[in-house]
Amino acid sequence: HLPDHLPDHVDVVIVGSGPAGAAYARVLSEQAPHATIVLFEAGPLISDPPGAHVKNIADPAARAAAQRASEGRRPAAADTPTDTLDGYADGAHRLVRPGTSLLPTGWRQPGEDGMPAAAVSTNVGGMAAHWTGACPRPGDSERIPFLPDLDDLLTEGERLLGVSSTALAGAPLAGEVRRRLADALDAGRAPGRRVQPMPLAVRRETGPDGTGRLVWSGSDVVFGAVTRENPRFTLVPEALVTRVLTTDGPEGRRVTGVRVRDLSAGDGPDGPEHEVSAAHVVVAADALRTPQLLWASGVRPPALGRYLNDQPQVVFAVRLRDVPQSAGEPETLGVDPRTTPGITAQSGVSWVPFTDEHPFHGQVMQLDASPVPLPAGDDPVPGSVVGLGWFCAKDVQAGDRVAFSETEVDENGMPAPRLHYTLTARDHRTLEEARAAVRRAALALGDPLDDEPLTFPNGASLHYQGSVRMGAQDDGTSVCDRDSRVWGVAGLHVAGNGVIPTATACNPTLTSVALAVAGARSIARALQHSPAHAGA
Ligand code: FAD
Repeated sequence: HLPDHLPDHVDVVIVGSGPAGAAYARVLSEQAPHATIVLFEAGPLISDPPGAHVKNIADPAARAAAQRASEGRRPAAADTPTDTLDGYADGAHRLVRPGTSLLPTGWRQPGEDGMPAAAVSTNVGGMAAHWTGACPRPGDSERIPFLPDLDDLLTEGERLLGVSSTALAGAPLAGEVRRRLADALDAGRAPGRRVQPMPLAVRRETGPDGTGRLVWSGSDVVFGAVTRENPRFTLVPEALVTRVLTTDGPEGRRVTGVRVRDLSAGDGPDGPEHEVSAAHVVVAADALRTPQLLWASGVRPPALGRYLNDQPQVVFAVRLRDVPQSAGEPETLGVDPRTTPGITAQSGVSWVPFTDEHPFHGQVMQLDASPVPLPAGDDPVPGSVVGLGWFCAKDVQAGDRVAFSETEVDENGMPAPRLHYTLTARDHRTLEEARAAVRRAALALGDPLDDEPLTFPNGASLHYQGSVRMGAQDDGTSVCDRDSRVWGVAGLHVAGNGVIPTATACNPTLTSVALAVAGARSIARALQHSPAHAGA
């Protein structure tokens, strides 16, 4: 329930508890310890500590319950498997992952390709309670050219997410996978962009029985103890922010607070609403719902919702050539991967970085960490069948956008999203090249399981970007500045993958957490100079 003692006024309101919102809470807890902060999250609390990854929940029934609770009002059937995609395809190539829910309507407009697999997660921790944790740095044209301190911000993002390049690097088959890929693909690449272990938001812990287990980072790691122990920070689940409140004054438009609806009693759009005033509001409600909230609030800069892009993706599965049976034995692994819940580590996760010359982000991983379905009846040596996912950078265009209906509403009574999305001729060529590139990589590793790579439906990457993009100046092609401050509305920040302005192929969360760090630091600076805090 919205706490009775919810203050009428705080310094900062954060909307959304995925890693982007959590990064604001963390940096502000560290750098502005006197600030009062409340974070409103539309979804329920599903794990402990708040925001923890569901794969860290050992009990399969409890894990499935956490996934179902993240899937909004139309969750998958209760008995849907937790670790495979069985039962998840819903026709029309609308691939969906456990813990997420597909947009029920509006994912395709007449005559356009649409985004059949567009999905969201609604829970404390957002999608990062369900993610794969790959945290590569962007390279070459993926990088944001007007941010000279991008590398420092990425380093800070890695700290917040607990990124490690070594946690799975020593997996029994990982070295062999990397060696075969490197032999085939490394020629001509700069040292930092050669085949290497994927940086992952994961750590290894020793369990009570003495065996090592992998613990996946979610927003819990981003929040960190400093946020959880911050007496001036409050996290409120099942609280949907329905409006950002603003006022027009002599110095222009500025934020005054938010209106928030209590969803905890199950009344949906009829739940009671409250207003909380704040000088700073951060909307970190994912790349589709951040523009939704701004639009509903009458904050409609010309670029809002536009330049929407997702990473076209091809996948292929391959059986590693010449793998000794012993590599997948429980004795080698210290654990039997077939009976141990959660993610185990046989072949690790390898990374083939994006470069301008090879403009694909490749990740190669054991199939229990990958969305590639295995053929029925296949019982391979654990880790010996790996999935290859090659992501492409989309040809970004202003017309690809999430628009909102003036009349229709979504399940929460918010303006219904309408996705406009079409692959260009260049995108089709890129996909063709990606299919050739993934096949080359697969043949270096072993024998492909299928004749042709599979091209996923649009939206399947779950990496939606650009809809509230940042820009170097307010020229109508961006929504916010380099500190994620919305042009023309003082005190309003946006956060998440929607802020990324470039066409990236690599997984975006590290980058959006890095951008959130810069935004949170700018709020911390503003708070230091505000009269209320001058004497604190
Ligand atoms: P989210 O994590 O989506 O959180 C947004 C939150 O805002 C949600 O909890 C939502 O309920 C809340 N919200 C929305 N509207 C409102 C409102 N009006 N009021 C209050 N709250 C609201 N990314 C990678 O970088 N690497 C990977 O390997 C990777 N693998 C993935 C695998 C899977 C299966 C999935 C599902 C995702 C994966 N992702 C990966 C994507 C990654 O999880 C997202 O990039 C990341 O979570 C985005 O963070 P965010 O904070 O911007 O948004």
